[in-house]
Amino acid sequence: MIETATDYNAMTDDAFRTMVRDFVEAHYPPALRFQIGQLPHSVTRGWYGKLAERGWVAPAWPREYGGMGLSPIKRIIMARVFDEHGCSRYADNGVMMTGPLLIKFGTPAQQAYFLPKILSGEHVWCQGYSEPNSGSDLASLRTEAVWNGDGWTISGQKIWTSRANQAQWCHMLARTDKTAAKPQDGISYFLVPLDAPGVTIRPIKILSMQDDFCEVFFDQVKVPADALVGEAHHGWSITKALMGGERLFLGASAQSFNALALLRQIARAVGSWGEPVFMERYARLAADLADHNSLYEAGLEKVRAGGELGPEGAMLKVHQTEMYKRIAATAVEIAGPYGGLSGASDAVNEIQVAATFLASMAGTIYGGSSEVQRNILAKQVLHLP
Ligand SMILES: Cc1cc2nc3c(=O)[nH]c(=O)nc-3n(C[C@H](O)[C@H](O)[C@H](O)COP(=O)(O)OP(=O)(O)OC[C@H]3O[C@@H](n4cnc5c(N)ncnc54)[C@H](O)[C@@H]3O)c2cc1C
Repeated sequence: MIETATDYNAMTDDAFRTMVRDFVEAHYPPALRFQIGQLPHSVTRGWYGKLAERGWVAPAWPREYGGMGLSPIKRIIMARVFDEHGCSRYADNGVMMTGPLLIKFGTPAQQAYFLPKILSGEHVWCQGYSEPNSGSDLASLRTEAVWNGDGWTISGQKIWTSRANQAQWCHMLARTDKTAAKPQDGISYFLVPLDAPGVTIRPIKILSMQDDFCEVFFDQVKVPADALVGEAHHGWSITKALMGGERLFLGASAQSFNALALLRQIARAVGSWGEPVFMERYARLAADLADHNSLYEAGLEKVRAGGELGPEGAMLKVHQTEMYKRIAATAVEIAGPYGGLSGASDAVNEIQVAATFLASMAGTIYGGSSEVQRNILAKQVLHLP
């Protein structure tokens, strides 16, 4: 595997930020800035290629696997510059999930085959966890994998699989032991090619008319023995290890700062800017965002000092995603009739108000819903039963 030469962690934060900013300004297509939601891989492929050439596709992976080996703080700086410039997320599930999965739990053969194809963009991955009736309560999942003597036969259904219709591979959970005492104990982790016979992908059109959410059906899908990651029946602990530590990113302030800037533009376009009633609402949102940012900066400091986020991560995620929703809802209200349009209008400065509002809903569901995060806070901070 190719080792990235530069030790970015040795740079000062300012020098690193400037380098990333210069790169984004030179290479991120201006026409793709500040788009709603995640753009399809076909659209962001060129940007992915630029990042791949520079060795910047995988900020968190260790350098010996072709990643940048960035410290958490440098990763946050990079993500923040991308957010400030309105860069869409690229097809990053392979980078965010499959790579860390294989680096930590994969065999050398799995690492050697899959990691370079993620870095080059040849393989796009999706994540097959959720099922009908198994979302927050993921351990109740029913898709099963049965050992057939040569490998595994997988049958069942996944749902809400983001961008399965753009992916070649799915990393997924399936039940391999129905007799285990706890539902968490009988689950295994698999890597499944989406062109295998028996796989059917059905896109779900959502309110914003995007169709990159999918149902994925597995009908007696045969995969070889080396499709298993880690030990059989130990998939739950692997999943838990992968999901930890990302809430600082989900709680980052940039999304709400960007939304507040859009709200200002809409208010100016429709003549609300300066009206006392609107300005009072705006001031409340801006003050809440300033509060949130203080909490976020405190979280950053803790990480910078080598600590880990505990329940603050849940608090940041709930606060940021719910604030983004409130800002987007205010934009719909003040935009009047333009707030209901599925497209943009020059009456609101070409901002897609309704699409922003619909997109803001998602953050309070994925990565652990607000209710589930509040349960964490109730137990870990308030010590409620
Ligand atoms: C934008 C987006 C992208 C996604 N991408 C993927 C993906 O790529 N792959 C994938 O596998 N999944 C994906 N998901 C699915 C996501 O993980 C689930 O939607 C999420 O886990 C919630 O599960 P659910 O939809 O089944 O709702 P449920 O778990 O049924 O929850 C329904 C409601 O009940 C509440 N609730 C549930 N349990 C509790 C509890 N114990 N206490 C209090 N309230 C509770 C929830 O907060 C929610 O309001 C995505 C979801 C979104 C919105």
